[in-house]
Amino acid sequence: MPAPHHNPPVLQQALVFLLEEQLERKEAERSLDRVRGAKNAGRVRQATQRTLSEGYYLWAEYLFWLAEAMRAGAAFQLEARELDGVKLVQSARLQFEREHPACRKCGSPNKEFALLCWNCNARLNEAAA
Ligand SMILES: [Zn+2]
Repeated sequence: MPAPHHNPPVLQQALVFLLEEQLERKEAERSLDRVRGAKNAGRVRQATQRTLSEGYYLWAEYLFWLAEAMRAGAAFQLEARELDGVKLVQSARLQFEREHPACRKCGSPNKEFALLCWNCNARLNEAAA
């Protein structure tokens, strides 16, 4: 396997995937709040399968951390691959936003074809036609 930073398209895929995992975790936690006593928390967490090499996710997680730390004001001397990676985090966020339209009521990202917002239960895509 080439180092993750040598394959930006796949790395971006890993970044988007982590954002999706995060959304699914939030959705799962919310639905478990609704269904008290549910025993399948573990199963829900396994719903999405990771398909890329683990190295991509590790590097992607590091890049999210780095981007977050920089946004909070930390100053780092970045290597070229880190600088490229932080830009990739931006592209991944934009891709995620395109693929997960925000609810007009509460702003939460939702899956592309969701009918109801997982967070506030508002109907999505109402005036789309
Ligand atoms: Zn909503």
